[in-house]
Amino acid sequence: MPEFQTSPGMRDILPPESTRWRRFQQVFADVVEAAGYGEIIPPMMEDLGVFQRIGDATDVVTKEMYDFIDKGGRHVGLRPEQTASVCRAFAQHRPLTPWKVFYAGPNFRYEKPQRGRYRQFDQVGIEVLGADDPYLDVEVIALGWEFYRRLGLQQVDLLLNSLGEPADRAAYVESLQSYFEANLDALTEESRITMQKNPLRVLDSKRAPDQAVISAAPKIADFYSPDAASHFEAVQQGLTDLSIPFTIDGKLVRGLDYYRRTTFEFQGATLGSAQNALGGGGRYDGLVESLGGPPTHGVGFALGLDRTLLACDDEGVFAAPNAAVDVFVVDTTGGREALRICNELRSNGISADRAFENRSMKSQMKGADRSGAEIAIIIGSNELEADTAVIRPLRAAITEGSQQRDVARNTLISDVKAALAQAHSTQSPKEKA
Ligand code: AMP
Repeated sequence: MPEFQTSPGMRDILPPESTRWRRFQQVFADVVEAAGYGEIIPPMMEDLGVFQRIGDATDVVTKEMYDFIDKGGRHVGLRPEQTASVCRAFAQHRPLTPWKVFYAGPNFRYEKPQRGRYRQFDQVGIEVLGADDPYLDVEVIALGWEFYRRLGLQQVDLLLNSLGEPADRAAYVESLQSYFEANLDALTEESRITMQKNPLRVLDSKRAPDQAVISAAPKIADFYSPDAASHFEAVQQGLTDLSIPFTIDGKLVRGLDYYRRTTFEFQGATLGSAQNALGGGGRYDGLVESLGGPPTHGVGFALGLDRTLLACDDEGVFAAPNAAVDVFVVDTTGGREALRICNELRSNGISADRAFENRSMKSQMKGADRSGAEIAIIIGSNELEADTAVIRPLRAAITEGSQQRDVARNTLISDVKAALAQAHSTQSPKEKA
């Protein structure tokens, strides 16, 4: 065992899984860029105060933050999420509204590591600042939905709720508080503590003894003002127009203290309840303001990469790609010719790899097999002397005319292109994917 290993909850993402991660981000960027979102790349570390504005009733801020004093004496934190940074950036740069941005990258939370839960984990997300239109909520949700569809996921459930206007929410919280106080004995110790800080979060409890009290608790829907009710109505109508199925869940409150009106969560139906939340979001007000900007409406979501990929594994979609080059060059004459040929191939847009250390023909051919290449180019002393090369198909069904053959060195690139085209045309669609 080497002396150093990754810290708990932190991982090396190795190939080919790392390629899958990059493609995940790429699919996401394709989906949201096509809807007018531009990428924001905020720093991974900010003044601690930026993250503290998320609210002091969330574990993310109170218990899980990686924070330290830097060499200049600043109290800084590694970002536990990116919404706060986006709002800080908005307050700092004052872009035109609506400001539609997306992000992708790691966040840090000092959580207890388990399946689908890490201390450094990746999210992708979008935020729109400066518009209060219910159809924007629908656009945001629909983009999340479309992203899952592009990955190939089918078993995703959308849960939807509205927390009403701030005044509705406040009245609801008050009523919840009295209700929980009257039923204190029936709540778990953890929920009693949560209740002191934020009664809404008690609704999140998955602990069995709490469930009876929670299911008889007052319902947010009874507290909606006419504005909140019509906003929520429009969101549901928009989702129905787009044929996006959803379930209303009055207990869906989500962590951020700033949430108002729409909240939603995407759940993976194949995952256990401890990690079935693939991602979620909602509408929030006040966050930009608390970071020194003007009063600004916001709506967005963050989707976790790890759990989404677990769901992909369960559904057998969006697998890690087989890393493969087009061509593997075998050179038994010392390797200098392989160097030239690889360079030529790569500059002609053909991916190529080779063996090093002048290994035997047999060992180089093993490397060729492992590389996943379609064809091998073989250079031995005869070829070197005759200024030729051998092209040998390695995979696919070897059909008439695709046998190994000698080609002139100066037409090698065009012959390789033709051989690759032939190899691809004889593959089944599954192999091509
Ligand atoms: P949140 O920012 O807490 O609303 O989380 C949004 C999504 O990010 C969740 O639904 C998860 O998919 C993912 N996520 C949150 N925390 C973690 C973590 N510690 N490890 C892996 N994924 C996480």
